[in-house]
Amino acid sequence: MATMQLDIVTPERKVYSEQVDMVIARAAEGDIGILPHHTPFISPLKISAVKVKKGEEEFHVAVSGGFLEVHDNQVTLLAETAEMPGEIDVNRAKEAKKRAEQRLQNQKQEDIDFKRAQLSLQRAMIRIRVGGDGE
Ligand code: ATP
Repeated sequence: MATMQLDIVTPERKVYSEQVDMVIARAAEGDIGILPHHTPFISPLKISAVKVKKGEEEFHVAVSGGFLEVHDNQVTLLAETAEMPGEIDVNRAKEAKKRAEQRLQNQKQEDIDFKRAQLSLQRAMIRIRVGGDGE
């Protein structure tokens, strides 16, 4: 069966680089399913769990914002942060979630820090999901 190259990179490190069968990622317009030989595509990447299928294996990768690019049978996720399920410290994410929720309770919606706390909460929830049960 045809495969495609998936590279997940952050400014800090190369997180994943393998031939895979399918990628489902959250782009600006919504979820996009990418199969081998997809047409060229570029989009911002949302804070989300990216689903990867590789043979019988299926797993999620936690990513925060960045970019998604598809060209020449190559998918590149250039993410601000990205973690594989086994790399996630779920307790750390739970602490981050708690802190973000406390900040959100004490702030007004128009505050810049409110937006920051919302993004932090989203990252934490995705990490808990991906690190917790592989979902
Ligand atoms: P925290 O408040 O716990 O630092 P954060 O959302 O502010 O969370 P980020 O700024 O998104 O953290 O990430 C900073 C670095 O720490 C990145 O390299 C990211 O991959 C890593 N990281 C963040 N949270 C976790 C976690 N729960 N488990 C493993 N690595 C994490």
